[in-house]
Amino acid sequence: MAAKAAMGDTQLRQNVRHATDVIQAKRARVVAEMPDWQELREAGRQIRQHTMEHLDYYLQEFEANCTRAGGVVHWATDAEEARRIIVELVKASGSSEVIKIKSMTTEEIELNPALEAVGIHPFETDLAELIIQLGHDRPSHIVVPALHKNRQQIREIFQREMNLSELGEQPQDLADAARIFLREKFLRVKTGVGGANFLIAETGGVCVVESEGNGRMCLTLPETLITVAGIDKVLPRFEDLEVMLQLLPRSATGERMNPYNSIWTGVHPGDGPRAFHVVLMDNARTSVLADAEGRETLHCIRCAACQNACPVYRQTGGHAYGSVYAGPIGAILTPQLQEMHHAQSLPYASSLCGACYEVCPVKINIPEVLIHLRNKVVRQNTAGVAGLFDVEAGVMKAMAMIFRSERRFRAAQRLGRVAEKPLVGKDGWIGWLPGLLGGWTQARDLQEMPKETFRAWWEKRGANGR
Ligand code: SF4
Repeated sequence: MAAKAAMGDTQLRQNVRHATDVIQAKRARVVAEMPDWQELREAGRQIRQHTMEHLDYYLQEFEANCTRAGGVVHWATDAEEARRIIVELVKASGSSEVIKIKSMTTEEIELNPALEAVGIHPFETDLAELIIQLGHDRPSHIVVPALHKNRQQIREIFQREMNLSELGEQPQDLADAARIFLREKFLRVKTGVGGANFLIAETGGVCVVESEGNGRMCLTLPETLITVAGIDKVLPRFEDLEVMLQLLPRSATGERMNPYNSIWTGVHPGDGPRAFHVVLMDNARTSVLADAEGRETLHCIRCAACQNACPVYRQTGGHAYGSVYAGPIGAILTPQLQEMHHAQSLPYASSLCGACYEVCPVKINIPEVLIHLRNKVVRQNTAGVAGLFDVEAGVMKAMAMIFRSERRFRAAQRLGRVAEKPLVGKDGWIGWLPGLLGGWTQARDLQEMPKETFRAWWEKRGANGR
């Protein structure tokens, strides 16, 4: 239903198509200038695989080194515990406001509503997140959360929410309005909350990369800094950043390097926040790790290249996925982070064309994980109904029987042509199927069978001596 609504929104589709085209073109340019791009991807894959195989070790190493440097590490089993810890930390800091760095993890745990519920006002400082917050909207993209909005729409939101009588619609005008709106918050608010791109086990350091400089403000100006990160964000060594900081910006925004790369370790007198907390959150990541076929999902570095390349995402945008993580990565991550029965349709939100796999900087074989998850959905749906007729399994058995015999196959083709006649529309497409098969055509159209099979055409051609 969500996909249908998105498909009907022409403006949204134009915005998504335009933005993903621009990012893809930039990515292709900067990737093409790297002669060792494939070797870098392989290095990235190996680093992530090694980390996940020894995750417990590296997390403990991170905790020890971060603590030694003056940070405080908290462990959260799930989103609820992470929210509770952060709310308590903000309260303890004595602040009723927080400035936020863009973080999909805080979206995942729905932190803003939890803060607002206890009277703490969060200010998003990333331009795209600010647009989402002021527009009372939801992110639709991992890297560019307001990708579904165009300039005119952003201008309307800013004018309305910032009480601006006049505002141009040039990028400079919009950036100036956001800068003026945020500058005073940066200087006033004493507590910062954000996520992390990487946690470095060897040093206990935290790395955030960004393009606007708002993150740097949030990391240096507040007295208290709270970072919330999934346990999958850890990297073993500082030098692993050499690989990741080449792969990530090129894949994410088509930049050779992010304009702002911040790495901080604990607290230092007279320099930056006086208190630093890291909330390390599981939220089902350990159960993803336990699944040998699904675990490479945790290798993800959230670059969104797979979203930009995906033909399904490019048609529908992110909201149709009903998940914080949209696109191919959302289709494999969300069903594993949530109980599968909450997101059964997501593994099917893909054409399995492989475009996501081709662009993934850490070589996650997304199509393979999708098929694994589809298997899980089918197994889950048929569990407990043994003995009852399962439509999908029945259809597959019938197909197998037909394909095993040329005689049966030819007969099925003849029968199919007769049976489809009343269903074919004027345009040559079948838009609905009756009975139990109706579910299949809810989101698909089927093309009319060709008037003549290739075999018949070939035989005729032979008979004519050509
Ligand atoms: S799955 Fe790969 S391409 Fe997609 S966001 Fe993650 S790292 Fe990027």
